Amino acid sequence: MAFTKKTVRDIDVKGKKVLMRVDFNVPLKDGVVTDDTRVRAAIPTIQYLKEQGAGIILMSHLGRPKGDGPEPELSLKPAADKLAELTGFDVKFVADTYGDEAAAACAAVKPGDIIVLENVRFLKAEKKNDPEVAKKLASYADIFVLDAFGTAHRAQGSVVGPAAYLPAVAGFLLEKEVDTLTSIFADPERPFVAIVGGSKVSSKIGVLDHLIDSADTLIIGGGMAYTFFLAKGYKTVGTSLKELDWVEPAAKMLEKAEAKGCKILLPIDNVVADHFGEDATGEIVASDAIPEDRMGMDIGPKTIELYCDAVKAAKTVFWNGPMGVFEMDQFAKGTEAVARAIADSECTSIIGGGDSVAAINKFNLADKMSWISTGGGASMELVEGKALPGVEALLDA
Ligand code: ADP
Ligand code: MG
Repeated sequence: MAFTKKTVRDIDVKGKKVLMRVDFNVPLKDGVVTDDTRVRAAIPTIQYLKEQGAGIILMSHLGRPKGDGPEPELSLKPAADKLAELTGFDVKFVADTYGDEAAAACAAVKPGDIIVLENVRFLKAEKKNDPEVAKKLASYADIFVLDAFGTAHRAQGSVVGPAAYLPAVAGFLLEKEVDTLTSIFADPERPFVAIVGGSKVSSKIGVLDHLIDSADTLIIGGGMAYTFFLAKGYKTVGTSLKELDWVEPAAKMLEKAEAKGCKILLPIDNVVADHFGEDATGEIVASDAIPEDRMGMDIGPKTIELYCDAVKAAKTVFWNGPMGVFEMDQFAKGTEAVARAIADSECTSIIGGGDSVAAINKFNLADKMSWISTGGGASMELVEGKALPGVEALLDA
């Protein structure tokens, strides 16, 4: 077990009021939730608390309000309605967070009730973890539950604040996310194959560094591969994405992998294009033979075979970052092939990162994966080996 904090299972909630920070930061269109994944993810804990006889006060942020007061288009009401629709429970929305209306609504909460407070970020001080915000929120309840994995890496008023004044424990989503994303470093079933792609080395350096410590094989794809080609001494990568300042760190990463016994796989061939566009002419070239006027857009067919074979042999796969510019169908083949290989395998598969999850959804493979993280930034921080402030603030188990 890689989760070392108390959870809702470890505390008596019967007849108590529970203030729970959830991640209802859902996409909205015309006041309707267009992707309810995050609302669904919070339901097991809500259901459990209700069954145990707690009164439930939910709060979340949504979008990026200015923080100077209510912004109707960023109200949490649609998320509250979605929760009611998905669970069949009575869910009362309160159009206030820190004022008298919210205090009165929380005071009236009875066992089994569920209320949803308004967007916590309609007040600027929330983001700064102002103690007044924390005290106010804590005054509403007897227990604090953090289940907002997607914001657990932020030391903000509604995430860490109430833990200073109330017994604070984790919800099931937070527990599962942290446990899953940290146990791949503690005790993965081997071979453990990590796949990292996406656009830049610079944004993934911490992820690569920590994965090398634990993975048996590290597969590299996407735009970052070209910086690694330069690190390997290839003369040119044409007009491909490259970060010249990161060639040296990439070379050090290759050395570290060698020293640690982590096998690194880089593309052996690539789909290159004459320009960055859906209408570009694609052709296949070897990695050390990219023409000066061509840019790499996807991994090539030989690389697909190599990567899929590595996936087939794996018992555990962690994947973050697409293998190519998957948003353009012509350059989505590498990402799709790797995604299908993971989906077809019996291995434990853990997917993190906003674009990687979008790719999996695009290919309709989500239900074939063992775990798809609901948090982009938070999951990456865990994979970098960092502690999450929201988790740190909870009671030790
Ligand atoms: P994630 O959100 O899963 O962590 P990233 O944000 O790191 O992934 O990277 C995703 C982006 O990387 C996608 O928009 C994709 O188009 C881009 N990308 C992948 N391969 C290339 C490439 N060869 N050249 C340019 N961009 C690429
Ligand atoms: Mg991304």
